[in-house]
Amino acid sequence: MRDEHFKVQMFRFVDVLASLHRGGEIVRHLDEYFTDMRNGFAPLVRTGVQAAKIVPWISGQLLRWNVSGMARQFIAGKNPHDVMKTLRKRRAKNIGFTVDLLGEAVVSEREATEYAARCLELLEYLARETQGWIDPLGKNSELFPVVNLSVKISALYSQMNPADPADATAHLAPKLRPILRRARELGAFVNFDMESYAHKNITLELFKTLFTETEFHDWPHVGIVIQAYLRDAEADLFDLIDWGRARGTRFTVRLVKGAYWDYEKIKSSQNGWNIPVYLQKPESDVNFELLTRILLENEKNVTSAFGSHNVRSIAHAQALADQLGIDRSRFEFQLLYGMAGPIKRALVEMGYRVREYCPVGELLPGMSYLVRRLLENTSNEGFLRAKFSDNVSEQQLLRDPRELLNGAAAPPATSVTTGDRQLPDGASVDVPPGDTYENASLVNFVYKENQEQMRAALRQMRTQLGKKYPLVINGQKIWTGKTIASFNPSSPKEIVGHVTEAGIPEAEHALEAARSASKQWSRTTIEERARLLERAAAIMERRRYELSALEVFEVGKPWAEADGDIREAMDFCLFYAQQMRLIGRPRLTQHVPGEESYQHYWPRGVALIVAPWNFPMAILCGMTSAALVTGNTAIIKPAEQAAVIGAMLMEIFAEAGVPPGVLNFLPGKGSIIGAHLVDHKDVNLIAFTGSREVGLRIWESAGQTRPGQLQLKHVVCEMGGKNGVIIDSDADLDEAIVDSIYSAFGYQGQKCSACSRLIVLEENYRRVMQRLLSAAASLRVGNPEEPGMTVGPVIDKTAYDRIQEYIAIGKSEATLAFQRKDVPAEGYFVPPTIFVDVTPEMRIAREEIFGPVLSVIKVRDLDEAIEVANSTDYALTAGFFSRSPANIERAKAEIVAGNVYINRSCTGAVVGRHPFGGFKMSGGGTKAGGADYLLQFLLPRVVTENITRHGFAPEETPQYREEFLWPPKR
Ligand code: NAD
Repeated sequence: MRDEHFKVQMFRFVDVLASLHRGGEIVRHLDEYFTDMRNGFAPLVRTGVQAAKIVPWISGQLLRWNVSGMARQFIAGKNPHDVMKTLRKRRAKNIGFTVDLLGEAVVSEREATEYAARCLELLEYLARETQGWIDPLGKNSELFPVVNLSVKISALYSQMNPADPADATAHLAPKLRPILRRARELGAFVNFDMESYAHKNITLELFKTLFTETEFHDWPHVGIVIQAYLRDAEADLFDLIDWGRARGTRFTVRLVKGAYWDYEKIKSSQNGWNIPVYLQKPESDVNFELLTRILLENEKNVTSAFGSHNVRSIAHAQALADQLGIDRSRFEFQLLYGMAGPIKRALVEMGYRVREYCPVGELLPGMSYLVRRLLENTSNEGFLRAKFSDNVSEQQLLRDPRELLNGAAAPPATSVTTGDRQLPDGASVDVPPGDTYENASLVNFVYKENQEQMRAALRQMRTQLGKKYPLVINGQKIWTGKTIASFNPSSPKEIVGHVTEAGIPEAEHALEAARSASKQWSRTTIEERARLLERAAAIMERRRYELSALEVFEVGKPWAEADGDIREAMDFCLFYAQQMRLIGRPRLTQHVPGEESYQHYWPRGVALIVAPWNFPMAILCGMTSAALVTGNTAIIKPAEQAAVIGAMLMEIFAEAGVPPGVLNFLPGKGSIIGAHLVDHKDVNLIAFTGSREVGLRIWESAGQTRPGQLQLKHVVCEMGGKNGVIIDSDADLDEAIVDSIYSAFGYQGQKCSACSRLIVLEENYRRVMQRLLSAAASLRVGNPEEPGMTVGPVIDKTAYDRIQEYIAIGKSEATLAFQRKDVPAEGYFVPPTIFVDVTPEMRIAREEIFGPVLSVIKVRDLDEAIEVANSTDYALTAGFFSRSPANIERAKAEIVAGNVYINRSCTGAVVGRHPFGGFKMSGGGTKAGGADYLLQFLLPRVVTENITRHGFAPEETPQYREEFLWPPKR
């Protein structure tokens, strides 16, 4: 396993194997994973593949059999009966057990209920089969029941959301109580396992809540995990100990290093969060020792279980226990089944308690879950390595991790493969454009403080509902006497605000102001314009919760979605500021003796910004900030449904110091002032995002020149989508179901990028549908003021009626497979709905519905899937779930969409990372948040000067000049 690539391919192959049933499929995957491997193993594999191709059926089965054999080494048994055989053998060696049920990720409440039932069944069985077993040490046995069950909390509730611990407890506690009650009756021990950081606080809270209840407060046989790789671990441990002391009954803490190190690092980096884990391995080791001390010093209240294979960590615990005079029988060591046999034996011989952590589950799927954990966590790789093959000296093994701390190399940054793409002058084109930019971070609702800030902002915002907002023209606030009311879609009686309505005279006024401000603004330095955007972003950051709260009320966004929208708006400001600095300076076109030519950009003039309501801050701000930083003046027309958020953006830019006339805020009816300005001879640029219907009208109208018009209009036009996601026959359904459900129903399906067609290969259609429908049935639907909602209301009555009409059309064209019943009666809540037996020519498969309605199309094979995916008028986003390297390559090449997402959700584009926008009837091919977006707002210009005088020319020509860009200094 020394070759990294081979190892990854091997893991990935094992991961997919359980989902492959036909011999031919197994051989095809084997071939795809290992074809071009330049590795010692490769010839062997290649020969194997050749042979396998001849008799795929036999070879496929042989491979499954082989991997199952490997799985036997790490999985203690297929089922309760099977695992008992293992446990009996271990008992003979004085090794105890804790069992962990392996299984698919739980994506629905049905699956969660099944898991709970399996836990109970396992408990009963183990209790029955271990009757009469006695404690191997015969001392302090009352602390260590024989039957010990490790429970995965996330497997008991499919809708766990870090923002909403109360909801998690409300759902988890009733599922856990019967298990705990029965375990207590049976004299068993229950441990709450710890998984990713997102669930940590919830798990701790749940543990404390349940075991403070009258029924359980005097039950000592419960435990929880502390992960030493977390920076929070010490504080959490002290908190637990305090709680335990107040409770007055012992409990157990299993101390481990933690198994999600890579995952935590990746996830935090993607979202701009502080990384919760220590970055250097020895730091976790040091922390493990510190926590060991805390645990042992509190031995009066807490029983310790040390979960480590590191001999130094083990030896440290032993020595410390001796020093503190704690008897060996009062704590235990826990090690994984199938590993570190000699350590276990030695510990038993030394008179310590040893318990094995025993995964139980079907071998092949079980292996893929194990391997998945390994893939997530390279620091765990010792797991598969032959035991002690590394021949490390005793001294090295026992070295104090503190010695390794100073000067220990930080883990290498993710390496990016760069091809040999040097230009002749030595410049490199290999730095990705997004790499020069660090995104704003998302709010991490794992933290209580953040949850509380959001609640406070919602309360505060409620007191401000119903306010009136003016137009802003030439820096002046203007009231026309007419207003547009904006309603809360969750509770339409509630008016979020009244925004002054502009008519034609105000539109003319705004245009005049923008035109006259244009001269000065177009000659304002790039630096000054960029700083304006940066100040705006800083104000958004300061008002972040307030703005998110407003989105919850005005457009029905769930918390995290609202926060994502504000983050995106900040990103647009910061990214475009940076991009303008990069492209704005006049740049030499070519070195040529005697002449210098500089290309640079001028703004187009007056920009009209017409925005939709669904990303009310981000899209409006994105188009606006692009217009301003490029030196255009702008008139912004927000969508009627989100006009208050539009007013906030104006306020923010005003506070940031935008000069009068440079930005004018003109809410009003799209069909009146929008259309008027689109047709106006003095508007030079229209940046539009919205529906196809309006977009096409604008595109057409802008193509006409009107009397007196001096410049061709340029249109940036982003329209709708009918996005398809394909689920291949070998897809990882744990991921595919969760991500497809979220893509289809997150924010009520009201994202232009939302999945509205799920294209499923017939081979796993039945399994996909079974899991998909129950996952949809489990979604949280309700008022998004509550944290952790996934599906809220649609934007207004018109949208509600339109979507209901589509549901009626769907019922007449296809088969209704699922529709939620329990949606709130008040507000525009459309129940999540799924249609099956949909064919590509049906209206529900072709037209944008823009609501929580999903059409499922069954296809024979990948050819048909791609054909169906590409068969609409739109080309915005698309998704593909597969574990076949060849099919993935094919999807990358053949799926027609502006943004193609492989093995992830097809929504949630991030500025700089996923430049966003489509083509065909989805848009003009521009990419918001991409390196070339600003060019849409600019006119390129080249200035050439003959610098030869009487045959003489300077030898050096500067790369950049900017003297002629700004007005000459007087
Ligand atoms: P919409 O087309 O109804 O309205 C968009 C904007 O256009 C609003 O401000 C509206 O007032 C204005 N408008 C309406 N008629 C006009 C006219 N005749 N002239 C000028 N302006 C006019 O769209 P919506 O309901 O606000 O937004 C939803 C649509 O936007 C969906 O189709 C969605 O797919 C699309 N969308 C696309 C993207 C993308 O990046 N491609 C992003 C978000 C939303």
